[in-house]
Order: sequence, then C-alpha cells, then structure tokens
Amino acid sequence: MALIPELINVFVENTKNVYQYTVFQLKHPAFNNIYYCVLLAYLFCFTLEVILPKQRKHGLLSRKGFWLDTFYVFFNDVLVYIIGLFGLCAVTELVFLKTLKLFGINSMLVVDITHWNPLWQIMIMFVIQDFCEFVAHYLLHRSDFLWAFHKIHHAQETLGAASTRRFHFVEMFIFKPIIYIPFAMIGYSAADYFLFQATVQNVWGFFTHTNIKVKWGFLNYIINTPETHSWHHAKNIPRRLGVNYASILNVWDLLFGFYYLPKNEVPVLGVPDQKEMPTTFLTQLTYPFKLVFSGKYKSKENNQSIPAKTKNKTIVL
Ligand SMILES: [Zn+2]
Ligand SMILES: [Zn+2]
Repeated sequence: MALIPELINVFVENTKNVYQYTVFQLKHPAFNNIYYCVLLAYLFCFTLEVILPKQRKHGLLSRKGFWLDTFYVFFNDVLVYIIGLFGLCAVTELVFLKTLKLFGINSMLVVDITHWNPLWQIMIMFVIQDFCEFVAHYLLHRSDFLWAFHKIHHAQETLGAASTRRFHFVEMFIFKPIIYIPFAMIGYSAADYFLFQATVQNVWGFFTHTNIKVKWGFLNYIINTPETHSWHHAKNIPRRLGVNYASILNVWDLLFGFYYLPKNEVPVLGVPDQKEMPTTFLTQLTYPFKLVFSGKYKSKENNQSIPAKTKNKTIVL
C-alpha cells in the first residue's frame, strides 16, 4: 500500500477503535474502568480541598476558572483521544518503524519486558514516563513556539485539582506520540501506554494542583507536591530557566538544578502579561495559533534576561 493511504488508514482505524472503547467504558462504570478511576481520583483531591483549603479568600466552586478547568478535564482526558491523539500515536509508530526499515531494522522491539515481574515492569515504565514528561515540560518552557501553547496552563491565577487539565491539546499531540516510542521499544501497545500514563501521571496531576494547606517536609525532595508545583506556576519566573518541571519525581529537578522551594512563602500565580490572556475555552484554543501566525510568539517573558533572584511578591504564611 502507498504510504499516505496506509497512514490515513491506520489513523482512521485507531481513531475508530478508541472511540468505540471510550463509549463502551463511559457506559459501563466500574472501579477498574480507567475513566471512573480518574474521576474518583479527582473527587478525592477535591475532597482534600474541602477539608484542608489553603486559600480561603475564594470558594471552591467560585474559584476563578473552576468550571472551565472542569470542562478541560473532560476535553483533555476523553475528547482529545477521540479527535485523533490515539490515531496520531499509531501513525507515529508506523512512521518510526518504516524509518528503521530504511536502515535494515525490521522491529522497534529492543527488549520485551512484558513478561517480566509486574513490579519491575511498573518501575521501568514509571521511570521512562516520568523522565520523558520532565524533558517535554522543560522544552515547553524553553521553546518560544511551545511556550505559546503551554502558557495557557500557566495563565491561571488560582489552582485547584482540575487546574492540571487546563492546557492546550496541541501539547499532547506533539509529545504523547513521541513519548510512546520508548514504550513500544520495550513491548507495549499504545493502549498500554495511555492506560499507564492516565493511571499514574494524570491522577498525580490532580494532586499537585490541589489547593491544600499541607507542608510536605522532606517529601518535597522526592515527589512533586502542591507546594513544589505552586512555585512552577509563579507569575515571575523564580530563576532564569524556570523551576520544578517534574511530573512526579523531583529527583529530575534536583539533578538538573531546577528544584526551588523557599521557606514560608507562597508565590503569586499566573503569567506576567496576565491581562492579555484569553479567559474562555475557544479563545484559549485559538490564542497560540494567533501568536504563532502573527510572529508574536517570541515572547519577552520567556527570554533569558530575567535575573536569577526571584521577583515574586511573596506572602509570609
Ligand atoms: Zn509548565
Ligand atoms: Zn501545573
């Protein structure tokens, strides 16, 4: 089959499959159903916010952007897969395989770990996933083009569990198919990869964005917590290159020098040009494209001239 029709066929077939899978799962609630597991994780984090609120100046439901964030949970956790992410993943895999064949390599499989002890499998997948997400997140900040999209996530002036999903779907379209490749190299299907990342990373994302008043102590050095992640959302970048990029393991930030957690302070959240940021779903969808096509995406705030010293107004707790 010619390449383009083959790619289209793979895209359509996989998109159709994920659509049928999603509809079936949504119609059959169960504790081992990924969509309902994610929903339960969200409700758990939401309950934590009810019990241990950090900022009392706004109500849980009246928090700026609460309903928009909630819609983003549905959009990015359900709809994005149906509108093509899963199909794109399969296409990327096929293109990668065909490229390898040009060099006489007929399989992507480097080592099949799918028969190993499940604990080893989980640990290996976890480390690969978390490190790839760390690198992807770093690139989202360092590239002016990618920052135009990622800025939507940072233009939030308050955080709550659902804030984790307020990001532009293009982020997923760029990075998820690439991050899937190492999973394919150790024997997993795209479905395995997405189930794993939804169970681990998406659930943890709810937790790191919760608006709760808890001091995590030494755990901040090990895992990404609401404390460390709130500094990632600081309005004025605390250090020249930004801080706390980790999804789950803060060891990556410690290793590469991006770990940052001042004592007894909380950051002001948002982006420096907050007033210019769109506030509705549709305008947030189009905003990065407008920036890119107008050539204005080379933003001053993402340059490297910000002094190392924090410029955040800080609040002593
Ligand atoms: Zn970020
Ligand atoms: Zn965040």
